[in-house]
Amino acid sequence: MTKKINKSTAGPSIITPRRGVQLIFLFITLFIGIKFYGFVAQLESGAGISMERPPGVEAFLPISALVSLKYFLFTGILNRVHPSALVLFLIICSTAFVFKKGFCSWICPLGLLSDVLAKLHGLVFKKKLQVFPWMDLILRGIKYAIVGFFIWSIFIKMPVDALDQFIQSPYNRFADVKMLELFTHISSTAFIVILVLTGLSLVIPHFWCRYLCPYGALLSLLSILSMGKIKRNSQNCINCKKCEAVCPAKIQITRKRTINSLECSTCLSCVDVCPQKNAVGFSLVHGFSMNPKRIAFALITMFALGIITAKQTGYWQNNTSVQEYRQYLLGKQMPRTMSKDMDPEKMKKMIEMMKKMKPSPKA
Ligand code: SF4
Ligand code: SF4
Repeated sequence: MTKKINKSTAGPSIITPRRGVQLIFLFITLFIGIKFYGFVAQLESGAGISMERPPGVEAFLPISALVSLKYFLFTGILNRVHPSALVLFLIICSTAFVFKKGFCSWICPLGLLSDVLAKLHGLVFKKKLQVFPWMDLILRGIKYAIVGFFIWSIFIKMPVDALDQFIQSPYNRFADVKMLELFTHISSTAFIVILVLTGLSLVIPHFWCRYLCPYGALLSLLSILSMGKIKRNSQNCINCKKCEAVCPAKIQITRKRTINSLECSTCLSCVDVCPQKNAVGFSLVHGFSMNPKRIAFALITMFALGIITAKQTGYWQNNTSVQEYRQYLLGKQMPRTMSKDMDPEKMKKMIEMMKKMKPSPKA
């Protein structure tokens, strides 16, 4: 039983600390996305480069990060192809050792989108649609199966010799551009998949996060070792079950004193609605409680410290030069522009231009 469980200090304010942190990270993500789009667009147009490639874009390359992690564990070498992918991956994983799946509900922009869709669900459907418990259990297994597949493919099946080959391959080296193109040149299949997932998250709140997200599943597994947990003080609890009604993970909070569930995302919704003082709260070891402001501060600090350390040690910027990016993009443009209407002279000039481009040191 915890000694110091504090009631959330979120109060009646519209922007809670969690929403504030979510909005900050959404803004940063959009900024990075726009900047990277500008960088690629300038290279494609052949114009001079005024925008730098933002290294933070590598947050969207978890596979590359996993391969880099295995490469580091087996060789002791931190590769420079996508260094910030590994840095951000490690920061995100480290949050799970303190705040369980707090990354999902405090930082991930998809978590925020899921929250918005869950709110819309409340407006669209008068009665909450419930998934049968047995079906919920089966569906929750999907995300663990996906993350298990990735871990097995990379950590068990992939030979150590093949790691460097993968890391240096154009597929991995330009994976950031490919990721951008998934949205800028979206295929009809990808568009339909996104629409279906959005629709499902509207009908079944947090569908993506709860059933499909492999990143969330990995954090769930790491959260077994989390120092922080939601704790309920049965002496102060009046068993009103308001906390259970709002819990997005459908955890039976009133049946427990400590929430060990893998699904708890430290969203603090239970704390926010609880009418009783010191009945439910987030605590670290030895009953040290953390209110939402402290959690917000700690999460931002973890990211800031990790990124500053990576920058200071020169492990943030990748080693792919602007010239190599330009060459790759021109190479990709060729098949697109090589239609029957293409002027053969223009095509010849493009080939000549590409031949002249030798990889240069990082610009
Ligand atoms: S409502 Fe409480 S128990 Fe449920 S996921 Fe959020 S923090 Fe965890
Ligand atoms: S909302 Fe608070 S008082 Fe009500 S059941 Fe949950 S922990 Fe107990």
